[in-house]
Amino acid sequence: MTLQSPQSDNRPFRRFVLFMLVLALLVVMTAYGWHQHTLQSLHIASEFLPHLPPRAIKYQRESRFIQLGDILWNLVGISSILTPFILKSFISITNRLSTIMRVRSVQSPALLEVVVMLLLIAMYLWIWSLPFSILTLLHERRYHFSTTSVSTFLRDAALGITSSTLVAPVFWAGFRLRTKFANNWWRIVWVGCIPLFLCVTVLQPVIIAPLFNGYHYLSKSPLKDRIVSLCRLSGIKNSDVMVEDTSRRTLRVNAYVTGIGPSARIVITDNALRLLPDDQLLAMIGHELGHYVHQDVLASGIIGCLGIGGYLWMLNFGLQRKQNCSEEAESLQNLGLIPAVQVSIAVFLLIQSPVDSCISRWHEWRADDYGLETTRLYVPTAKLMIGFAERDYIDPDPPPILQFWFGTHPTVLERIDHALSFDRPLQTKKYNR
Ligand SMILES: [Zn+2]
Repeated sequence: MTLQSPQSDNRPFRRFVLFMLVLALLVVMTAYGWHQHTLQSLHIASEFLPHLPPRAIKYQRESRFIQLGDILWNLVGISSILTPFILKSFISITNRLSTIMRVRSVQSPALLEVVVMLLLIAMYLWIWSLPFSILTLLHERRYHFSTTSVSTFLRDAALGITSSTLVAPVFWAGFRLRTKFANNWWRIVWVGCIPLFLCVTVLQPVIIAPLFNGYHYLSKSPLKDRIVSLCRLSGIKNSDVMVEDTSRRTLRVNAYVTGIGPSARIVITDNALRLLPDDQLLAMIGHELGHYVHQDVLASGIIGCLGIGGYLWMLNFGLQRKQNCSEEAESLQNLGLIPAVQVSIAVFLLIQSPVDSCISRWHEWRADDYGLETTRLYVPTAKLMIGFAERDYIDPDPPPILQFWFGTHPTVLERIDHALSFDRPLQTKKYNR
């Protein structure tokens, strides 16, 4: 991604928009022209095939358009900040505020300047993304999935904009280090990012997540006893299983593992507790136990840290190619570099998505195996997957290109097939019931 100074022309931006439009056209053709074809090819018995009403097919097709459109729209939005008019305006507002507050720095931006710039960008992007945010909300409401109120929507936006400033110290330190260590700054930032990234992962379930949702322990019931004994098989304490009040936002069923070390926990949504039969809920928890035991959150964190290193190396390479800029352009680039870095992060994340998705699918397969080995609930697991397709309208057989690029889980059909054909003997004593 080209890093632009406010004075340069906006030809790279125009080329980028053209590229995005071509990409959008390809995406639309892929999303619209797709017809489910593997329903028969996996040889699943008809009683275990999800039966989707036309309404579900329509929902899936519309969702593909909205989600892909949202990704492209946001990429264009974040890139538009690099256009001279917007960039100059943001830098000018930041400079005026920093002069008033007397924090103006000559060599590299002061921390407060970075915070102001990040806030301006986050507010601009929130407004830019509003059409797709509202479209997504209306679409989810039309199909009776979303329960998000206007006040929750606005509260989430305020929290999202505020939390965008959490990376301010990283930018601030990066600017300072770059003036002192022209070649090695990125290595120092990378090493600094690792404990920061791991700290955020530890604190996420105990500090960040409660800002968005409420959590409580399982209340006493025969089901709780079954869940607790299932967890004990994997050496997990009762206190590591929490219930999230997800029904404030959506009626979809879900469970997940979050946190590492002292904050690691399995979270079940209140929708799952309310809507799933006991055996399907236990099958779902068995899968999450797999993530917990294999420490997939920590593994993802380590992979994320490696990704940060790769990104910083590429950023340094791109910046070194800009070394021939004039002094004036360089000084103007200080704050202007922030949106340029954000654009390059967005493009980097999109390009590396297939790698991320592939690793995630491998974790999911492993967690499925663990759950099936531990619970032996093969048919309930298959029925849980059928429910995801029939109740939550999750596409059981998405277009292969989208599954390759964005599919964080194996497809619903693959998981049904896997559960029904799963008859592997118990491999370790730990799994014995
Ligand atoms: Zn999973």
